[in-house]
Amino acid sequence: EALFGKYMGGYPSRLGISWDEFIGMGRQNPDDHNERFCMSIFACNTCQEVNGVSKLHGWVSQKMFAPIWAGYFPEENHVGYVTNGVHFPTWTATEWRKVYDKYFDANFMNDQSNESIWHGIYNVADEEIWKTRMELKEKLIKFIRDKFTQQWLRNQGNPAKVVSILERINPNALMIGFCRRFATYKRAHLLFTDLDRLEKIVNDPERPVLFFFSGKAHPADGAGQGLIKRIFEISRMPQFLGKIIFLEDYDMQLARRLVSGVDIWMNTPTRPLEASGTSGEKAEMNGVVNLSVLDGWWVEGYREGAGWALPQERTYQNQGYQDQLDAATIYTLLENEIIPLYYNKGKKGYSEKWVKVIKNSIATIAPHYTMKRQLDDYFDKFYIKEANRFKKLSANDNRLAKEIALWKEAVAERWDSIRVVDKDVKMLVEGGETGVNYTLKYVIDEQGLDDAIGLELVTLKPETDGSDREVYSVHEFKMVGHEGNNYHFELTYEPDHAGSFRSCVRMFPKNANLPHRQDFCYVKWLD
Ligand SMILES: *Cc1c(COP(=O)(O)O)cnc(C)c1O
Repeated sequence: EALFGKYMGGYPSRLGISWDEFIGMGRQNPDDHNERFCMSIFACNTCQEVNGVSKLHGWVSQKMFAPIWAGYFPEENHVGYVTNGVHFPTWTATEWRKVYDKYFDANFMNDQSNESIWHGIYNVADEEIWKTRMELKEKLIKFIRDKFTQQWLRNQGNPAKVVSILERINPNALMIGFCRRFATYKRAHLLFTDLDRLEKIVNDPERPVLFFFSGKAHPADGAGQGLIKRIFEISRMPQFLGKIIFLEDYDMQLARRLVSGVDIWMNTPTRPLEASGTSGEKAEMNGVVNLSVLDGWWVEGYREGAGWALPQERTYQNQGYQDQLDAATIYTLLENEIIPLYYNKGKKGYSEKWVKVIKNSIATIAPHYTMKRQLDDYFDKFYIKEANRFKKLSANDNRLAKEIALWKEAVAERWDSIRVVDKDVKMLVEGGETGVNYTLKYVIDEQGLDDAIGLELVTLKPETDGSDREVYSVHEFKMVGHEGNNYHFELTYEPDHAGSFRSCVRMFPKNANLPHRQDFCYVKWLD
């Protein structure tokens, strides 16, 4: 709070509120001084729009922040999503740019999300795809030799060993990359769950497999640093020497070489903690296919025949069991599917089936994960909407903004005294049958407000439904007239489902000038 005060201290007086009220916007319960100030809650309370960075992350965030907007179910709040993308010109290797220039529509750079243009990859000969891949594999190996020889000689001392490791890196091996921040949720250790099984996989003389690991841990993340230490130690065990290679100092330059230089990009986060993940998207543009847990962007990105996925659902609550299951799934995928497919090399020296996977992934996945698509989404979902709203609110010396503020004050002042004067809710009490029309009626004393209240019937799914979304349907009542302060509401309703659905009625402040309900989140459940 002190640090926040240093930078934000001037705001409360400009907003005409106290410091306590200001800092309270960063708490689920604003008045609970024991609750820690939370930047995300503060942002949710001070921004009109909120979004996650993938579809799944949007849903996780809806649930995470639902307590801020009590009275609404998680799936009803305004938290949306825009899935992250990556900047095509930054992350696509020159070698692939040349291929795309040659085979894609001339307007490609202006129309990057157009999948039909990317389907041009199917017109590229398999040999050309493979040649491009091999060039990039060799380029990665050269980069590693150039960059790491000196460093390794310094750190490991044994020059003969260092030189032999670097010389032995075999461009024809199946090369797999795992490179990212070493936050523990990313589970860099997963591959090393069963070292005996891994040893067999990497040491098959006919079908060698090479793993590159790279990444940094946060300076305060001791556990993440521990993972790096463990992988570094494994990489020096005789059976893994030159097979598991740890590369220090992961940065954008090394990332560029790795996301275009390996054959497979692997990601094994703990579900559902990977908000988006973007390095796998970089790989897509370079004909590098993903092997990943269905989490973050890969839930949307994965297509059959264009990469590999570990199931989205957890099987075990116990994380240790889940780790073991996921590790076993990866070994089995490698042994039974991935390695045989990669080494199904014909006379031409490459696997046609592998090239097919590359083509599928470039054609059907890559087009949807560029920064162009991401920016288009932000424009369509948020920027245009907010720019228009700003114009509307600020016109004529902020006339509408002031009007809304006054209205909110009036509603807030009277909210607790607004009351139900009369009602007819037999259907809620006795339960309704499908195929029959029911009319629900309320009379509400609005305490001098002018038609400022809305009512709606909310139908909830039975808890045994199995889905995590609870709301089945929402029907708004019609305001059919008033005498003085007493407003009459009616809803004619035919239950469109049978059985154990629950129906409830709630009351909310009604104003067409609000961007959404959470903007002024007063709710009262009536029945
Ligand atoms: C892309 C990138 C990341 C992020 O990758 P994730 O898939 O989100 O883990 C991290 N570091 C570097 C250097 C990158 O280029």
